[in-house]
Amino acid sequence: MFVSTGKELLEICKEKNIPIWEYTIREEIEAVEVPREKVIERMKSTLHVMMNSSTYAQDNIVKSVSGLIGGDAYKIRKYAESGKTLTGEFMNKAMARAISSSEVNAAMGRIVACPTAGSCGILPAVIISAGEKLNSSEDQLIQGLFTAAGVGILIAKNATLAGAEGGCQAECGSAAAMASAAVVEMMGGTPEQALTAAAIVIKNILGLVCDPVAGLVEVPCAKRNIAGTVSALTTADLVMSGVYSKIPFDEVVWAMYKVGRQMPAELRETSQGGIAITPTALKLKKEIFKE
Ligand code: SF4
Repeated sequence: MFVSTGKELLEICKEKNIPIWEYTIREEIEAVEVPREKVIERMKSTLHVMMNSSTYAQDNIVKSVSGLIGGDAYKIRKYAESGKTLTGEFMNKAMARAISSSEVNAAMGRIVACPTAGSCGILPAVIISAGEKLNSSEDQLIQGLFTAAGVGILIAKNATLAGAEGGCQAECGSAAAMASAAVVEMMGGTPEQALTAAAIVIKNILGLVCDPVAGLVEVPCAKRNIAGTVSALTTADLVMSGVYSKIPFDEVVWAMYKVGRQMPAELRETSQGGIAITPTALKLKKEIFKE
């Protein structure tokens, strides 16, 4: 069975001298009782769905059913190529990829809810953008997804991945933590560094509420996917430079869960607080539902 804590994960990776992605693959083989090739094949199909969702809305203007979001991935992609950006083509392309999946999701297209539909833009954007920059093979991207999966399992075991339970910190925060850990291993970082990245990402998003406008996973969700993507990528660099987290991963996850439980129900996906009750959000809600 998959280990219960980050501490145990690090011990086992050290003892067997393997990265998190390898441990996760081995556990999956045992859990689902299918051969290694099959486990990898399934993750490959997942990667391909991610590749499509993170590209589609960059090339096509995709509007959500409600009309609340759409067209931003297309705009950012064009801007990324303009040579006028502040943070560079790499970061802007990553941002375009993130919102592309969110727009595809809001338009009822096919995405990978990883770990949730609301946060579906982060992992594809981070893994694919980092992979492009690092010249990674498809196998290495798949390995990154297994690292992310391993970290996600630990968060799910010890906290939650649901906005309704823990706020957006649990959704976009977890997605970004999983993605950052994945990139660290893709860059040759150790399992310890991978969990350090996950810890730093969560610390930096701790307390983020879930407050979808009109109850739809569109505003502010799509842009939070961009924020999570940027955080995951910059944190991977931070960790690869040798920076460490004073508070270990397990304790950060524990704190995230506690903070989620302390949040009032209004800030946990009920659309009764935060951005969802601003005058503009309420007006938009009326227009969408013709109230
Ligand atoms: S605001 Fe809520 S619904 Fe939107 S992505 Fe965050 S957790 Fe999900």
